[in-house]
Amino acid sequence: MTAIAVLGSTNMDLVAYVPKAPRLGETVTGREFRTVPGGKGANQAVAAARSGGRVTMIGAVGTDEFGIRLRAALRSAGVATEGLRTVEGASGTAHITVDDEGGNSIIVIPGANARVTGLEADDEARIAAADTLLLQLEVPLSAVTAAAAAARAHGVRTVLTPAPVQPLPSALLAATDLLVPNEHEAAALTGLTDPRQAAEALLQDVPEVVITLGAAGVLYAARGRGAITVAAPAVRAVDTTAAGDTFVGALAVALGEGRPVREALAWACGAAALSVQRPGAQESMPPRTEIDAASSPAEDGPA
Ligand code: ADP
Repeated sequence: MTAIAVLGSTNMDLVAYVPKAPRLGETVTGREFRTVPGGKGANQAVAAARSGGRVTMIGAVGTDEFGIRLRAALRSAGVATEGLRTVEGASGTAHITVDDEGGNSIIVIPGANARVTGLEADDEARIAAADTLLLQLEVPLSAVTAAAAAARAHGVRTVLTPAPVQPLPSALLAATDLLVPNEHEAAALTGLTDPRQAAEALLQDVPEVVITLGAAGVLYAARGRGAITVAAPAVRAVDTTAAGDTFVGALAVALGEGRPVREALAWACGAAALSVQRPGAQESMPPRTEIDAASSPAEDGPA
């Protein structure tokens, strides 16, 4: 079983479903309210565990009731939570309004995630024991950079999802093996809207890049080896929340198991395609048996 460490965020998503979002000063009556465990870090951890990885989560929850539920959600997905601190105060929350057109607006309050400013005792050992470290940018850059450096020192592959997108410090890029932006993040990082050109530019900083292209699949590029594309299976998407996190979690497992890149990309696209056919974030992520059953030979495009 491939071992995966995740350093990142845990959020409780507080989702209000409304016919139409309220304007400033307006009050509207909504249809439904749900609380759903989320956060990019936790989402990737759950995706990797469902995909068949042995996963440990490093991060923080608060002393509120959300903290208890967020930890329990990870545990029930099979994720080890010894590295998930409980810090005084509120857990991270995302306040999401979804209207009848599917449009949304979101307020994220980092809460406990903001207190993840560096590595603590045993975190380096947790990272060193992994084959792969998954990182995103919903906890402070100081912790992300320290974790990447620890991974590099121990020969652990680092996979970085640059979201929410922001300028990346050179120390972080220098310790990143695989960067996985979506097409919007790739454009924001490089100023280039063409994914091939963006990938080419990003390869100046990191050895491997995957740009996710939504329903179009993914573009993979490695220094000195050209680019390949893998199409996403054609499915009817009902909710693409956490599609990227599902893809990254599954990809980390497939690569950690030593599967060839093209095969790993196709398998991870299969996992993400299953997730978009169901509502929700973590609850929409398919188990390994389902990913295997759905995966068929990739429809590849040449470079
Ligand atoms: P993010 O969720 O981070 O914005 P994308 O929208 O690029 O990222 O989606 C990530 C991956 O999820 C895609 O590369 C693709 O494999 C899969 N995916 C997303 N939307 C669809 C869709 N409509 N049909 C099939 N697969 C999809």
